[in-house]
Amino acid sequence: MAKQPSRRRARADDDDAPPAPPRRLKRPSREAAEAAVRTLIQWAGDDPDRAGLVGTPDRVVRSYEEFFRGYDSDPVELLKRTFDEINGYDEMVVLKDIRFESHCEHHIAAIIGKAHIAYLPDKRVVGISKLARLVEVYAKRLQIQEKMTAQIATTLRDVLQPKGVAVVIEAAHQCMTTRGVHKPGVSMVTSSMLGAFRDDPTTRREFLAMIGTPGRHGLENV
Ligand SMILES: [Zn+2]
Repeated sequence: MAKQPSRRRARADDDDAPPAPPRRLKRPSREAAEAAVRTLIQWAGDDPDRAGLVGTPDRVVRSYEEFFRGYDSDPVELLKRTFDEINGYDEMVVLKDIRFESHCEHHIAAIIGKAHIAYLPDKRVVGISKLARLVEVYAKRLQIQEKMTAQIATTLRDVLQPKGVAVVIEAAHQCMTTRGVHKPGVSMVTSSMLGAFRDDPTTRREFLAMIGTPGRHGLENV
């Protein structure tokens, strides 16, 4: 039987699989990246040497450094500093309305949305700013929303080892609103429920009540 590596790779994105560590790929030079932007400008039908566009390759490459800086951070390292002394606190920790900007890996178009994260601590808690940073590390990569949702949830599960993790992401995809089917106002909602949030409907309901009904957060204002 022939091997099917592509199918094995696809399974790595499953809800229950730990996120694969980022592959360390060699980056091209900045000059090569700028030349690629020049090519795209020409492909769009314009002249990269005209005054308004001369600085554009440099600006686009610098924008990419910001859009994709998540590749430079290790999300597991980020969460490692946890607090073991939780003084018996065993209620849900919820951080909601974490605004993020990402880019879809199919069109490199913006994905703009909000993430809501909850976990039920067992022995450890983590500073809430770390939860927001975790969203940022995964958002600042080429993404699909389903994968990003699962990556955030499984990383939290693996590092904090809580009783449960819930992640809901709602986002608008500019590849749907500005091109293709042109459907403004549409948002996509994805969720990953692990442990108690998957097994216990009461816990899940409590979380969903705390974040409100996804899709009613006014994504037009994000
Ligand atoms: Zn897309």
